[in-house]
Amino acid sequence: MVHVKNGYVRICSIVSINRCLTQRCKIKVRVLRRWTFDSKDSQEKKKRFDVVLIDEQGNQIQAIVPKNHSNTFLNVLHEGHVYHIENFSVQTRTDSYCPVQHEYLILIRLHTIVRGSSEAHPEIPKYNFDFVEFNNISLLPKENQNLKDVYGTLEGLSELMFRKGLMLKEIFLKNSSGTELKINLWENAIQFMDNVITYATSVPVLVVTSLTVRSYYDKYFLNSTSATKIYVNLEILEVLELQNSSTFKERNISMLQTSSSVERNMKDRSLTNRKTLSQILQMLNEDSVGQVFTCKAIINDIVHDYASFYKSCTKISCRKKVIDKGDHYWCNNCNNAIPSADARYQLKARIQDDTESTLITIFGDEAEALLKHSASELEKLMESANGIQTVKAIIDKIIGTSIVFEIKISQYNIQSQGRYGFTANKVFQEDYKLHSHQIQEDIEQQLRLERSTDIPNPSNKKNRTDKTYKRKSYVVFSTEDSNESSQTSIIRPPSKRVRKIKENKARI
Ligand SMILES: [Zn+2]
Repeated sequence: MVHVKNGYVRICSIVSINRCLTQRCKIKVRVLRRWTFDSKDSQEKKKRFDVVLIDEQGNQIQAIVPKNHSNTFLNVLHEGHVYHIENFSVQTRTDSYCPVQHEYLILIRLHTIVRGSSEAHPEIPKYNFDFVEFNNISLLPKENQNLKDVYGTLEGLSELMFRKGLMLKEIFLKNSSGTELKINLWENAIQFMDNVITYATSVPVLVVTSLTVRSYYDKYFLNSTSATKIYVNLEILEVLELQNSSTFKERNISMLQTSSSVERNMKDRSLTNRKTLSQILQMLNEDSVGQVFTCKAIINDIVHDYASFYKSCTKISCRKKVIDKGDHYWCNNCNNAIPSADARYQLKARIQDDTESTLITIFGDEAEALLKHSASELEKLMESANGIQTVKAIIDKIIGTSIVFEIKISQYNIQSQGRYGFTANKVFQEDYKLHSHQIQEDIEQQLRLERSTDIPNPSNKKNRTDKTYKRKSYVVFSTEDSNESSQTSIIRPPSKRVRKIKENKARI
């Protein structure tokens, strides 16, 4: 049975392929989203475009405007507007991914009647998202073909990267319980993000739509599609709730820049299994062989009794000490003659935290990253006048720095009970930056507190208008026909949060 109201068919009752055309079905719908279908030939002048339509009941259907007559409808069908559509075809879906959960889709034909309405039509929803909770993403079936929407606070974003000739930008969203999720934005979706960064003054809450679910080992992440849209600080219940939650912190957006997944993984790694030196020393038993810990300590001294670098085998998988044979070198590990050898660091340092002091050896690239000079550079310097003193001075510069060391417990560490120290698997200087970042946040927090208790003055008034501006909702979109991206701001009454701030100020 076909449900009809005021002569309009409900989207949920579009189930038959031919009946709609023969019976001249009419629908009254709002265009929720519009996107250009990514064709393989990007030079193609005419491109198919797609829309998601929603009716009064909140049911959605995808509609396709084929490339042959897409130009006819490009300036007719706009996002957010309500239309009367008549004389269309209905098809089964052929695309592998579905932006909406409807068995069929509408085909806009050249003779389809599309008539816009100038009224607001509050009875037809403006948004409808298929939100998936971050923690439930891993529960989705592997062959899930329904595109998902997510929302969260923007926690980080990477620089522009290139993967197999495609542009990629990673963004990280955080939900109300603090779980972080990575979204890979590809090609067209990146320009939405550029607009977010340009126009947002504080860290926004984003709604990102039409995403596919992927996993890499055990880590789940989402990928954008050509149907992906990004909405900023949208005034919908979910977003407002997140903005008003205790975990939501207002921060300056510039603090988010340049945190690629590599850097974020490093941050995670530098915080994994964090122990004090005394805890590590107490754990030295057979069970702990192979375990990896991180500890934060200050470099107290460099042990110069040992050479800070040695001649190493050039084979990447070897890097062992080689024997100088005059006209060539010999590697016992490879059992081979080596024509030339590399200088490689083996920096021995005394480190200390609040609980203990121990020795640590830092090899190769890890030491080079700390000293910011290559071993061969320092080796050459050694040969110059006062070379030994100069090199010693360069190395001693790192004394007093606070470093996070990653240590893997070896059999040797157990036998010696740590008396001869450890080997650094990896060193992280990022912790220092994290620390200063934290301080910066604390300072900002403090300043905000001070301002809010100040007697209102002209500069405070300015801050207040800034706040209101921050809370403005806006939608970023691209104008497909001009290939330029643009952004519109809809001025709305300040959200609850801003009103609350204003009320508090009024009371002072
Ligand atoms: Zn070797």
